[in-house]
Amino acid sequence: MTFDDAYEWLQANSMECARLASLAELAAWDQRTYIPKKGHAHRAEQLEMLARLIHARATDPRIGECLDVAERDCPADPLLPQAVNLRMWRRAFDREVKIPASLAAALAGTAARAESAWETAKGSGDFNGFRPLLAEMISLTAQKADCLSTGHERYDALLDEYEPGATAAGIETVFCALRGPLMKLTADIAAQGRGAELPASTYPLFAQRQLCAELVAAIGYDLQAGRIDETVHPFTIGIGPGDVRITTRYTEDSPTPGLFGCLHEAGHALYDQGLDSVYWGTPMGSAVSLGIHESQSRLWENLVGRSAAFWRWAFPRAAAAFDGLRAVPESAFVRAVNGVRPGFVRVEADEVTYNLHVLLRFELERSLFRGDLTVADLQGAWNEKMQAYLGLVPRHPGEGVLQDVHWSAGLFGYFPTYTLGNLYAAQLFAAADSAVGPLEEQFARGEFGPLLDWLRKHVHLHGQRFTAEELITRATGAPPSQEAFISYLTRKYTDLYALDKNRS
Ligand code: ZN
Repeated sequence: MTFDDAYEWLQANSMECARLASLAELAAWDQRTYIPKKGHAHRAEQLEMLARLIHARATDPRIGECLDVAERDCPADPLLPQAVNLRMWRRAFDREVKIPASLAAALAGTAARAESAWETAKGSGDFNGFRPLLAEMISLTAQKADCLSTGHERYDALLDEYEPGATAAGIETVFCALRGPLMKLTADIAAQGRGAELPASTYPLFAQRQLCAELVAAIGYDLQAGRIDETVHPFTIGIGPGDVRITTRYTEDSPTPGLFGCLHEAGHALYDQGLDSVYWGTPMGSAVSLGIHESQSRLWENLVGRSAAFWRWAFPRAAAAFDGLRAVPESAFVRAVNGVRPGFVRVEADEVTYNLHVLLRFELERSLFRGDLTVADLQGAWNEKMQAYLGLVPRHPGEGVLQDVHWSAGLFGYFPTYTLGNLYAAQLFAAADSAVGPLEEQFARGEFGPLLDWLRKHVHLHGQRFTAEELITRATGAPPSQEAFISYLTRKYTDLYALDKNRS
């Protein structure tokens, strides 16, 4: 077998896996949007079959043989597309084969049972009833981490699945630097006591749909290569080149969940639409990590979509769409969509308190996998940390330890990528602003092309050529850190709430 034979086989196999996965994505999109109630059982069977087919292809022993051949003549330049693909195929294959089939099946089966048990427990608040399944999920995940371990802390192996190269020690350093400034900023804002609310009114759904479509198109989301649908838990799904769909959730009593949900998901979609379609189905045409993906959604939702400059352009459109906003001054609207208030629920948290929710989960997960914390003590530990970081104690487990689906699905090591995304977003935005800004002056005129073009060039088009850390370092001239994020938040909220600029 020559290099070309081996490489071509690997590429064809990678693309077949990707096509099968994209069929699963399409089926999953339908399952979460339009499927009739009675269609779920059959859909679950379809998805299970596709997962089996994909797994068989991804673990085909021929992959190992072809990698051995191709790696002998791998291009010396690690940044060439063939070298990138070979490196990432190797990584994926080695991970797949390290996990015994029996463990993979046990994880999938327990996750399915735990997810539906979690849904019931969340509704009833019965954490004790859910505990045995959660303990089983943690034990199986620990076994998986041990299979994948490279001899470092167990949690590192879990993080590595979502943010390749990230370590618990690195995340701890970030949070140590974030915790103090975030808690201080939250307290200073609370002391001002000047939150603004939008007036109670009805915000008709047809007007919300129209405005959202107009705004996401303006920032560059190609509606000929995507569509907007409605769902309970909004998501973005990249089905293939030319088909990247977003979803949102509208409520008639406020325009903000629909609007910011759309901008967030459109940020994810801009990344997927910006990947190089020539390499679709291979690592060169795939996203780097969850953290980088989240950086794109957070950047468009918050650094663009919640900026005063964005609303200088967009507010007249919103005020024309909704009677309820006609008498609202633009500045009051901007303050209302940037309210800061400690709350129980992570997904409803503002930009300042959000990362404190993630910090709490990271510390609990790390303790669980170090064996310092048992599931029996988890609820108490959760409540203690909520009190310490956000000054609140959940009234019931549904708004506390049971609020997220992640743990029941075995997604441990996933939460920190949300915070990494926020940090990357601020750092990328600052670099883009220096290179092609002032961006805010452009936003005020409804111009978003320069920012998107910069992101395309420095982030999207690279696929998995670099690790997240390399990508950020190359794009911004400095390794990832919390500094840009803290200075962005401090600047923004000092202006917005007229905080004392010399506060200590
Ligand atoms: Zn997201």
